[in-house]
Amino acid sequence: MALVPFDDRDGFIWWDGAFIPWRDAKLHVLSHGLHYASGVFEGERAYNGNIFKLAEHTARLVESGRLLGFDIPHSQEVISAACQEALTRNGLVDAYVRPIAWRGTEQLSVSAQATKIHLAIAVWAWPNLFGDNRMQGVRLGMAKWRRPAPDTAPTASKAAGLYMIGTLSKHEAEAQGFSDAMMLDYKGDVAEATGANVFFVFDGEIHTPTPTCFLDGITRRTVMALARKRQMTVVERVIKADEMPRASEVFLAGTAAEVTPVRCIADYQYTPGAITETLIKDYDALVRMTPAEVSRLGV
Ligand code: PMP
Repeated sequence: MALVPFDDRDGFIWWDGAFIPWRDAKLHVLSHGLHYASGVFEGERAYNGNIFKLAEHTARLVESGRLLGFDIPHSQEVISAACQEALTRNGLVDAYVRPIAWRGTEQLSVSAQATKIHLAIAVWAWPNLFGDNRMQGVRLGMAKWRRPAPDTAPTASKAAGLYMIGTLSKHEAEAQGFSDAMMLDYKGDVAEATGANVFFVFDGEIHTPTPTCFLDGITRRTVMALARKRQMTVVERVIKADEMPRASEVFLAGTAAEVTPVRCIADYQYTPGAITETLIKDYDALVRMTPAEVSRLGV
């Protein structure tokens, strides 16, 4: 299926405080964000018209910008309301939501003190890639690129620049016939996939790497809470690369990926199992609750 280019679609995009026609949402080529990757973004999903964990995503967006040295010139309340309104403006109830903040055109050099900070929000339909066949799982290759140390890059920021590593890794994996790549960190320990966190089942317990140099994903935290609600043991720790073949189940967790089983990591094979299936069902039920119901559940 040919993808319709993103600049050849209709709808409305929120840009610096107002909605404009989708096709008019163009950026000047001499924008600092394009040349120096001085941008941060979010990836959110709306279910039944409610953006899941909206306040958490907006807070992370603002924090991502702060970690890159800029303040987004809108309150969190305004940003969240604009995300929600973008859905209604575009007539969508189940959708992916993409806010992005970037440095503008006022200065084009490594120094960017004079640049203005812009914010845009777009929404579009983007169902889970795996749909009904989800339990078959995805195949991951091993990335040769590693997640940088937290004193090498602001790794807690969802910064556009950090995705260069992800795109390189994903392209290499795709060229080898895999769907995504498993990334190690700068020490050689297990980190994450290119757009989702990773979980392993060892001896019936759920283990996930401590997020010291990658995003502590909102889905990751949600899945940990759901598992603990079911009295499952969840352990956050350093996971060595040579432990991977010992896992009985492996799954990914992220806003776009939701909860997705992993069928293989390079030569290691896994059979998606009961723990993954339970968490997929729990997550799918949770995201379709109202925000009030979600907070009442305390996950
Ligand atoms: N790691 C990376 C590199 C990601 O892009 C994402 C998706 N935002 C995640 C982890 C998972 O984060 P979340 O669950 O908050 O979407």
